[in-house]
Amino acid sequence: MIRTRFAPSPTGYLHIGGARTALYAWAYARRHGGAFILRIEDTDLARSTPAAVQAIIDGMRWLGLAHDEGPFYQTQRFPRYKEVVAQLLAAGQAYPCYTSADELEQLREAQRARGEKPRYDGRWRPEPGRTLPPAPPGVAPVIRFKNPQDGVVSWEDGVKGRITVANAELDDFVIARGDGTPTYNFCVVVDDWDMRISHVIRGDDHVNNTPRQINLFHALGAPLPNFAHLSMILGDDGQKLSKRHGAVSVLQYEEDGYLPEAVLNYLARLGWSHGDEEIFTMAQFCAWFDLDHVTASAAQFNTEKLNWLNAHYLKQADPARLAAEIERRLAGQGLDRGHDIDLARVATLYRERVGNLNELADAAHPFVRAPHPSAELLAQHLSPAVREALASLRGKFAGVAWEQPVLAAALKETLAAHGMKMPQLAIPLRVVLLGQPQSPAIDAVLEVLGRDRVCERIDAALGPATS
Ligand code: GLU
Repeated sequence: MIRTRFAPSPTGYLHIGGARTALYAWAYARRHGGAFILRIEDTDLARSTPAAVQAIIDGMRWLGLAHDEGPFYQTQRFPRYKEVVAQLLAAGQAYPCYTSADELEQLREAQRARGEKPRYDGRWRPEPGRTLPPAPPGVAPVIRFKNPQDGVVSWEDGVKGRITVANAELDDFVIARGDGTPTYNFCVVVDDWDMRISHVIRGDDHVNNTPRQINLFHALGAPLPNFAHLSMILGDDGQKLSKRHGAVSVLQYEEDGYLPEAVLNYLARLGWSHGDEEIFTMAQFCAWFDLDHVTASAAQFNTEKLNWLNAHYLKQADPARLAAEIERRLAGQGLDRGHDIDLARVATLYRERVGNLNELADAAHPFVRAPHPSAELLAQHLSPAVREALASLRGKFAGVAWEQPVLAAALKETLAAHGMKMPQLAIPLRVVLLGQPQSPAIDAVLEVLGRDRVCERIDAALGPATS
């Protein structure tokens, strides 16, 4: 049974790198008919916040990365961690260490002075035939794991290939602090064991933790999961991805008008490939995803490509869904319902012309609310000849059937009668109706706007003398 997990620390928003990790772990479970588990690693009480937990859950929901089990919270599992610490102590695989912070600092100074890597020297490590000093009174000890001192830790990483680390490189790390709270490396192992995780798929910032964790798995007699460490994501400029590069929070992409399927498709390809496939559904991704085709080198974020995918998915999206997105955005600008514009038709008119949902909502704005073009703009576009033509068009609009071909015919007749070419009338008409000189086909715009709105707006532009 394949069981994967996403195990974020709720110290901030769900960023784009975390989302990709979640996506790959999710897809791996889906591919193999397994389970995907969400685990909130909130033991860092000082830095974890409920708002960050919510942001992670909201981000995953927006992307549609549903978990099968959880969310499990590490803060709710303290009794279990205590139990396992006790078990390791009883088995002689962990021990109390009374070294004070000052002593540790002195130790590190001395090691640095000798040009050595700072590490705990095992001064409280019990060994056969070794007598330890008496425990200093009134000191709450930390608990350290008795890491093997010889040999190597070696694993076949699902992305990076074989990784081997000498145990001599690892010191006896702390598994529980003086106040009894367990540490990150310890909780992860207990959780991955208890939750029967088969594949640990995570960011490669954890490669250094893996040998310690593997030793702990062995000490607990727990089966070892497979490990796969994903390379980091760099910004457009090749630097570590950060806020400098624009949106890094998944929900910011929602705010910025991206469709979740575009972000998912983009992230899927960011560090993984399936031949030349660039555009695919999540069903296809789940059918294809494997660790063999995850790239070991760092992936570089490419905003242009994401935008290209977003434009692609906008063109394909169901107009009713786009209408709902427009509605939500217009409501956010204080434009509530109370209009009878068919926003799905507006979406169909504009979805090929915009790059994101915010631009789509901006395009819909003048349909819902009259644009009030400035006197200057009107003066620029409404010459006396144009005003005359508009007035006669307005007269025709009062009586014709409100259908695109009929409206197109009325326009053509007016053009012929006034000796004008299409742009000479269509551009001023766009300014009058939408407040801007560009739009999709004018007859289509007219139809969607409706007779009343069109006539009102022309009247307003021509002024009382001609209306
Ligand atoms: N909580 C860790 C993090 O957010 C991930 C731990 C793991 O995946 O093993 O970086």
